[in-house]
Amino acid sequence: MPDSHLIVESLTKTYPGSTASSVDHVDFNLQKGEMLALLGPSGCGKTTILRMVAGLIAPTSGRILLEGRDIAQLPVYRRNMGMVFQSYALFPHMNVAENVAFGLEMRGIPKSERAERVERALDLVKLSGYGERRITQLSGGQQQRCAIARSLVIEPDLLLLDEPLSNLDAKLREEMRDEIRDIQARTGVTSIFVTHDQDEALSMADRMAVMSAGRIEQIGTPREVFDRPATEFVAGFIGAGNFFAGTASGNGEADIPGLGRLTFSQSAAAGTPVRLLVRPHRILLGHQGTNHFTGTVEHLVYRGQILTLTVKVGERTIIADLPTHAGKLPVTGETIALSIAPDDVTLIGEAAS
Ligand code: ATP
Repeated sequence: MPDSHLIVESLTKTYPGSTASSVDHVDFNLQKGEMLALLGPSGCGKTTILRMVAGLIAPTSGRILLEGRDIAQLPVYRRNMGMVFQSYALFPHMNVAENVAFGLEMRGIPKSERAERVERALDLVKLSGYGERRITQLSGGQQQRCAIARSLVIEPDLLLLDEPLSNLDAKLREEMRDEIRDIQARTGVTSIFVTHDQDEALSMADRMAVMSAGRIEQIGTPREVFDRPATEFVAGFIGAGNFFAGTASGNGEADIPGLGRLTFSQSAAAGTPVRLLVRPHRILLGHQGTNHFTGTVEHLVYRGQILTLTVKVGERTIIADLPTHAGKLPVTGETIALSIAPDDVTLIGEAAS
């Protein structure tokens, strides 16, 4: 795409002494103002990608183009990147304003302009009036905001966030998700953030790249990735799923050994092997429509808003999430009917168009 702000091409990192590549020919583009999440399990290479984009480590091969210019070999101080780390990396001996001003000082910005820009950055992250405070006198959330102000005050070409929320407790983490998203939208800064938390990626990113073993398995909007996972790994990593392997029998139907026939609304030629995904929350109680099954409830887990059922159907086990407000709920040992609309049966590997 010619108008991409950032283009990453065939980016590869093989650390000295290791045979496998930690990042293996990764490609992605970012439009200006976009927020991309790099999501994946521990060790899949997310931080290595971020560090190569930042200039903290050199790629083994590949290109990183910012506004058309290859920056892959530029040292970190020649790149205009804002970075927020999991640990915040604030200077404890400096106050909040001094921390935020640091990058401006390094760039030789005059004192009067510095003060004004620091004030604006603190205002952006709702820390106006905290300039004189010591870092140790801030809460975790406030330290996080200070780190964001420090990275944004230099007006970076890219904002890079490495697990920015993982040191916060669950409630604050949700608040900060919205806040980071809001700050990012208001400043329009193109951003990449690393996370292993699928909810964080789904709720914050414009697009997300799901990684496994140094490669991107799928890149797309949260909705595309959740509703149309390209691989079983992606489907399983993002949300719970029932997976059925079988053979297409034509007319949008598949034979699933041990279960029976499953109708879906995408096309697959008769005789081809298919892998189908059904999200537990898409399964309905009772006989409704094309796909319905009868089974026995083996196990129940009450989760407040939903009840998770483990149901034995034929030789298969199906996991279903039912809303707890939906009338009489099944009990263990009960024989029940379950239904699945064909639109809720996803053919894995059929990427969204
Ligand atoms: P996490 O979520 O645990 O931070 P990650 O997805 O960010 O993981 P990376 O930190 O990028 O993963 O690591 C990718 C792989 O590269 C891992 O197998 C890791 O052990 C290896 N690795 C990372 N840094 C180095 C290094 N300096 N030297 C050798 N191998 C490294």
